[in-house]
Amino acid sequence: MAVIINDTCINCAACIDECPVEAIVDEDDNPTGEEYYYVYPDKCVECVDHFDTPACAEACPTEDCITWDMPFTADHKEHFAGGNYLDGINYGMDDADAIMPTRDDISIEDRTARVSVVEE
Ligand code: SF4
Ligand code: SF4
Repeated sequence: MAVIINDTCINCAACIDECPVEAIVDEDDNPTGEEYYYVYPDKCVECVDHFDTPACAEACPTEDCITWDMPFTADHKEHFAGGNYLDGINYGMDDADAIMPTRDDISIEDRTARVSVVEE
């Protein structure tokens, strides 16, 4: 990942068709079992080489709903292997061995703190 959708999501669908790599699924397909949209960390490319900023967050009408998460890279794989999804739930992945593009200008501190992708 990349980015993460939290429980303030209102399932409005504004984000899903904006994603250039189809990394987002709706509440019915959320592999964590939560009743809101989900970003697959092994599919999200942080919109690198597609847009200047994450398109999902730009489209989202809910303040602070889509935040940064850790990069889906070799150095941070343990973050996704444990129960570090919201409320200690495990992430859902299709390819745990994937190495995904990441935006180097977003600090690990901001990712750890899950700051909002869209700055107020
Ligand atoms: S940041 Fe870009 S690639 Fe990642 S889920 Fe959002 S729209 Fe898709
Ligand atoms: S745009 Fe935001 S509120 Fe709407 S479904 Fe996507 S994450 Fe949820």
